[in-house]
Amino acid sequence: MDFAYSPKVEALCTQVRSFMDACIVPRIRQWHDEVGAGRYPVSFMEELKERARAEGLWNLFLPHLRDDEPGTRLTNLEYAPLAEIMGRVPWASEVFNCNAPDTGNMELLHMFATPAQREQWLEPLLDGKIRSAFAMTEPAVASSDATNITTSIRRDGDDYVIDGRKWFITNAAHPNCKLFIVMGKTDPDAPSHRQQSMILVPADAPGVKLIRNIPVVNHVAPEGHCEIEFKGVRVPRSNLLGEEGGGFALAQARLGPGRIHHCMRSIGAAELALELMVERAQARTAFGKQLHEHGPVGEWIAKSRIEIDQARLLVLKAAWMIDNVGAKEARKEIAMIKALVPSVHTAVCERAIQVFGAMGLSPDTPLADSWTWGRALRFADGPDEVHLQSIARMEVKARRHEPGKDNPYLTPLL
Ligand SMILES: Cc1cc2nc3c(=O)[nH]c(=O)nc-3n(C[C@H](O)[C@H](O)[C@H](O)COP(=O)(O)OP(=O)(O)OC[C@H]3O[C@@H](n4cnc5c(N)ncnc54)[C@H](O)[C@@H]3O)c2cc1C
Repeated sequence: MDFAYSPKVEALCTQVRSFMDACIVPRIRQWHDEVGAGRYPVSFMEELKERARAEGLWNLFLPHLRDDEPGTRLTNLEYAPLAEIMGRVPWASEVFNCNAPDTGNMELLHMFATPAQREQWLEPLLDGKIRSAFAMTEPAVASSDATNITTSIRRDGDDYVIDGRKWFITNAAHPNCKLFIVMGKTDPDAPSHRQQSMILVPADAPGVKLIRNIPVVNHVAPEGHCEIEFKGVRVPRSNLLGEEGGGFALAQARLGPGRIHHCMRSIGAAELALELMVERAQARTAFGKQLHEHGPVGEWIAKSRIEIDQARLLVLKAAWMIDNVGAKEARKEIAMIKALVPSVHTAVCERAIQVFGAMGLSPDTPLADSWTWGRALRFADGPDEVHLQSIARMEVKARRHEPGKDNPYLTPLL
């Protein structure tokens, strides 16, 4: 495994960094002002998207882009440092058409959509003309276990009829969100992993109702994490994604790359928090010393550097594995980064907040927002505990204890 960035990736990093410095960072204040005034999408988003696309910084996340599809075909390993740079500003990835959950949805459509579905939904998504949402989680059941999902997708003549309630559906409040990929049950009597299917639901279909945009740690995201009701929603049979009963397998296929992208961006967010922490620790003096000269603060800086570098290396390993042996074989590494990186993200933000004093909790630094998002990521795409449990299962399976056979390292010394 060689994680050194190639000259091509180094050049792209320089390009994305320059774009961030020239076009995105100077707009942070304006983004907050416009969103605060109820203007979303912000007035400059389309202009920035056009510019990024013209510079070849578009759809950088999709290694399997076809020749006739717009974008820059990169491996996951090549994409990782670019996503990290984008992760420094929460809304930056949309400028490059690399934002969740559209990326995961595009990957899913790329793998499983019929030619008609590709034309209707994938092409406008790849062009950044529409946005989309992925609707699996439900208020009524523990949704980290996908077999619990209760939304019904019932066949009726040439249509399917969808009934159910979802929540925390990211992007659903985005005015350009035109598509929901909905997970539900087509056959409640089938074996547990064959009951679910995914279906494409236009956001304006009769019976789709946005109930509310749910604040996350009292922070309202303009793109939304929404509660949605699907009541008697009727779509043609041709809207089924993949085969009936294939929803569980599709969910697994979707979550691999989606998870790694979040982790890549989180490394960038943590790196920014450390940068701010170090600067602040040099800029302020208390009790006769610069803050970093006080033992605990120095330790927080050092620990943060160690944890970020560990996390980055593990993310790069997971990316390398996805590229070289596929997401299925890389599932342990994907679970490992998903269980690790959001905690590193929040731990570094937490320390940086403390070093900033009261200001760390104010909107005058990006730290409070960043902590909130890191915290949310400990649930989004599955809670930590589920990933830890899968890792433990795989470890135990790989070292199945044979009865009567003792490990030779267990040598009685007395
Ligand atoms: C900001 C945000 C955005 C989101 N975006 C989306 C989205 O776009 N689409 C979507 O469908 N969902 C989305 N989600 C929902 C997210 O995927 C779910 O919250 C997550 O899968 C957990 O499901 P749950 O909330 O029903 O928790 P539950 O399944 O009820 O689990 C609750 C807790 O039980 C414990 N637990 C569960 N299973 C185990 C286990 N095996 N071992 C040990 N402990 C366990 C864990 O501590 C867990 O946190 C989002 C969530 C957030 C916070």
